[in-house]
Amino acid sequence: MKETAFGPVLDNVLEGIGKTPMVKVSNIDAGPCELFLKLESNNPGGSIKDRIGLAMIEEAEKSGKLKPGGTIVEATAGNTGLALALIAAQKGYRLIIVVPDKMAQEKIFHLKAFGADVRLTRSDVGKGHPEYYQDVAQRIAEETGAFYVNQFGNPANPKAHETTTGPEIWAQMGEDMHALVAGVGSGGTITGLSRFFEKAAPHVEIILADPEGSILADYVNTGQKPNAVGSWLVEGIGEDFIPDICDLSRVKRAYAVTDRESFEAARELLRREGVLAGSSSGTILAAALKYCRAQSEKKRVVAFVCDRGDKYLSKMFNDFWMYDQGFLKRPPKGDLTDLIS
Ligand code: PMP
Repeated sequence: MKETAFGPVLDNVLEGIGKTPMVKVSNIDAGPCELFLKLESNNPGGSIKDRIGLAMIEEAEKSGKLKPGGTIVEATAGNTGLALALIAAQKGYRLIIVVPDKMAQEKIFHLKAFGADVRLTRSDVGKGHPEYYQDVAQRIAEETGAFYVNQFGNPANPKAHETTTGPEIWAQMGEDMHALVAGVGSGGTITGLSRFFEKAAPHVEIILADPEGSILADYVNTGQKPNAVGSWLVEGIGEDFIPDICDLSRVKRAYAVTDRESFEAARELLRREGVLAGSSSGTILAAALKYCRAQSEKKRVVAFVCDRGDKYLSKMFNDFWMYDQGFLKRPPKGDLTDLIS
């Protein structure tokens, strides 16, 4: 890689993972606070998951779990799959992705376009069932000797955020910030950042943004794990269990955000700030704004844009989908003015 005054010249696209820019929110009211967004959507695979994909593969190379030309297996239809597909193709590994069959076709096509071997499995069975997608992935790895990535239990996942995302944020903020807002899917981001800030700047508050229906916000706010689990449409964050690698002990405050609030925030982010972000970024922005607007003095706050919004164009950015879901009011019959204005 060669650094120039106009940006780096990369030897390989993988060198473009990390060192993502930040943008200050300037047209949305953040109360007395300054709110900054770390644009993880600028990673080559389009999401924050590029960092952990690379870290988990490099760790397996070092430990000998992954040999040159070997096979990688993971159970995911989300951004981790896309990150692994990008990295596996560049590094010459075979990749098997096990995907529950309810997943959007676009995501499956995207994985296949990268050359991944996509195995569809049943969506209607839970953990412990032999056809549950994570069990299928683990079995394939055991039977073939492939490397099972297992982002929910792989310590290289939080480590990637402790050693890259955390130091980047701290330096970009000029070592002057008060709070950080993130979501939890695997928990890698929030765990790694908690560990980094515990050492570098323990005064930085770590705040969880959670979709309403997930158990995590209640767990942070009450210490109890509720039995009842709801459902939500926001993708990539919220859980009905606490993943093995997820450490929420430094998270003292959590906001539960409805789908409607998340989608409205993501749509506002695009219109007002020009940032095309995914639905989890809407949840995180909505939580960050709640926090900022409740402050009585100026605080410097960092939140995340976790992935690009392109894959949500036919969902939350589509007014008709929003009408059908009841998130936007359908205009009176025959009145299409607000659709074309
Ligand atoms: N946003 C999106 C869109 C994601 O795909 C994920 C990961 N599932 C996250 C946020 C949360 O990241 P983490 O796994 O580090 O908790």
